[in-house]
Amino acid sequence: MMNILVTGGAGFIGKHLVKSLMKNKKNVSILDNFSNSDKKLISLFKKDQIKIFEGDIRDNDDILEATKNQNIVIHLAAKISVEESIKNPTETFQINVEGTKNLLEICKKNNVEKIIVASSAAVYGEGSEKYKITEQTKLNPISPYGESKIEMEKEIIKFCSDNQINYVILRFFNIYGLGQSIEYAGVITKFLEKIRKNENLEIFGDGMQTRDFVAIEDIINSIHNAIEYTENGIFNIASGEKITIKSLAQLMILLSNKKLNIEYLKSKKGDIKYSETDIRLAKNHLNYFSKIELKDGIKKLI
Ligand code: NAD
Repeated sequence: MMNILVTGGAGFIGKHLVKSLMKNKKNVSILDNFSNSDKKLISLFKKDQIKIFEGDIRDNDDILEATKNQNIVIHLAAKISVEESIKNPTETFQINVEGTKNLLEICKKNNVEKIIVASSAAVYGEGSEKYKITEQTKLNPISPYGESKIEMEKEIIKFCSDNQINYVILRFFNIYGLGQSIEYAGVITKFLEKIRKNENLEIFGDGMQTRDFVAIEDIINSIHNAIEYTENGIFNIASGEKITIKSLAQLMILLSNKKLNIEYLKSKKGDIKYSETDIRLAKNHLNYFSKIELKDGIKKLI
């Protein structure tokens, strides 16, 4: 049976992933310091089915223990807040870059065969009205968070190539789904919260900014496909469809059947205007298809 360690396994993506890996009869362990997740929630998983290592990717001893006898490491642990990365870039780099370097060194020591890593659309920064973002699009991050993900990718590519470890880097776009922590939640989760409280939806700017939203279920499928994939690569993982934030708000109000309005606030500094994604590479190589349409995904959440 395949042994898989999920770093950051107690987080938003991690919990969904662990559940589905267990369904697929994998031996699952997680390594998490619970800095952005709840230990109690993950302990709801049956103890005999999942091994929990409480530890930090900045601590070599913690990683050494957790990576023993693992075939694959799925690396989700990260400092994910863009705003905090601006306030304290050092911490973001320590976790996202140095933490990943530690993890790589020790994966090598413990003969881990493959690493699958969560990167982010933040590596691209601003998109364009004229083209879709492909993996070849110039990287141009506008936050320390995005910069840290680029550094992380570079470390992975270099280390894994030098040491014959397989790697798949997945650049996730805007993910939505159950269990996203409100604090760092994306706009869909924030709108849902407003709808639940019967409050108007707030948009920063004119609402004409576009985003590519992808359901957590599609993200989980992409990770399963990455497990099966036998080569190395970097892939955009998104829905491939763009929507303006204004249309999103209108759609969500419509689906909620409530009489709510949209309020427009001053646009936020550092917010990107265009994001539209080309996912052909993941289709052709990973056999990844985005199966959940935004309307259906949101209906389910409402
Ligand atoms: P999350 O914060 O819910 O999960 C991350 C987990 O890592 C948390 O449980 C946290 O406690 C843990 N963690 C943080 N620092 C750690 C450390 N030093 N040592 C050990 N564990 C630590 O975030 P998420 O949304 O599940 O994101 C998972 C990954 O996907 C991250 O790498 C993130 O950058 C990437 N990503 C997420 C999105 C999104 O929309 N959610 C989009 C693009 C990329």
